[in-house]
Amino acid sequence: MRSGSMRVAEISLPAIRHNVGRIRELTGGAVIVVVKAGGYGHGAAIAANAALAGGAALIGTADLEEALALREAGVDGPILCWLHGVRADFGAAIDAGIEIGVSTGEQLERLAAAAAERGVRATAQLKLDTGLSRNGAAPDEWAGLFARAAELEAAGLLRVRGVFSHLANAGDAEDRAQAARFDEAIALLRAAGVEPELMHLAASAATLSSPHLHYNAVRVGVAAYGLSPFADKTSAQLGLVPAMTLRSEIVALRGVPAGTGVSYGFNHICEAATTLALVPMGYADGMPRALNGSGAWVTVAGEPRPIVGRIGMDQFIIDVGPLAGRLSLGDPVVLFGDPERGYPPVEIWSGLMRTINYEIIASIGPRVIREAVDGPDLDSPDLDSPGGAA
Ligand SMILES: *Cc1c(COP(=O)(O)O)cnc(C)c1O
Repeated sequence: MRSGSMRVAEISLPAIRHNVGRIRELTGGAVIVVVKAGGYGHGAAIAANAALAGGAALIGTADLEEALALREAGVDGPILCWLHGVRADFGAAIDAGIEIGVSTGEQLERLAAAAAERGVRATAQLKLDTGLSRNGAAPDEWAGLFARAAELEAAGLLRVRGVFSHLANAGDAEDRAQAARFDEAIALLRAAGVEPELMHLAASAATLSSPHLHYNAVRVGVAAYGLSPFADKTSAQLGLVPAMTLRSEIVALRGVPAGTGVSYGFNHICEAATTLALVPMGYADGMPRALNGSGAWVTVAGEPRPIVGRIGMDQFIIDVGPLAGRLSLGDPVVLFGDPERGYPPVEIWSGLMRTINYEIIASIGPRVIREAVDGPDLDSPDLDSPGGAA
């Protein structure tokens, strides 16, 4: 870990542990924490280890490559991955003890063949399409897939540990229709002689809104990072704590006269004499360039200040006007973080950009150093009592 970096995403491990604990409390079943896309920008290994410490039963990734990278980074808990290229190396997955989400008969055969070659039993979870029209076996393939899975299980080549599907979040009636299809699939699987240990349908949204969709496991991404999957509910309202604080620092301060043009194209002109602060973060780091002129703000010395002028690849400018006398080079600038701590919530950016908070965090660029910050458990009832912070 490099220190002194001017672009940092601080990742609160207590926040991730708290969020996973909150979801465990809410569901009572197994919690699968999804750390695809670099842990939604938080750092996949940082997120996976914190999630396991918070009681996650299983770590999920999309790609096998992501799962293998977690192993290389020393993450030793159970890992499931489910989105495979046609040449995905299931042998490597078996060697690394990674569970494979199987969407097709062809994947099932390749996984069994790799297990046979090694003389071991692979672990599979069957991924079913119950209506999203994306990845997963379609209903007309279920009977054949389940019968073959039962055969391969009996032959000792694999174990079907679970069955899962993903919701379209299209509404309550649509969710219930998908759940009904999922129930049918589970019954069909059991009739074929396979008893899955884990059954999971809900991602963050259904986990937080629909107890009837919890089955005995849930698969959460965004909620584990402390963010709300709903446009009309904040993290705090859901009992979640945002884990990421995106921060940089002031690297230049300059007093300018009224009429000064700022950044490319001069689309901001200072109306009065003021002080500009330069911050070394830009669109290559995941700040949307189109935030330009949108009214987005950051906090400097605990105060909200506006981003002015066009955002560059590496840097942007804030008008620090009235704060100027109190600021020095190196002072921290928080781009977003936990609003309960006075920071701008990430949802300001996603709202201005007409997207979802997921896209903003998943787009934080590779130059931003992910810095894990540990501390006492957030839900310790009394941090000062002996053993309270253990
Ligand atoms: C990304 C993903 C999730 C997690 O979704 P959230 O809305 O972030 O909780 C769960 N399941 C699957 C299959 C996914 O691809």
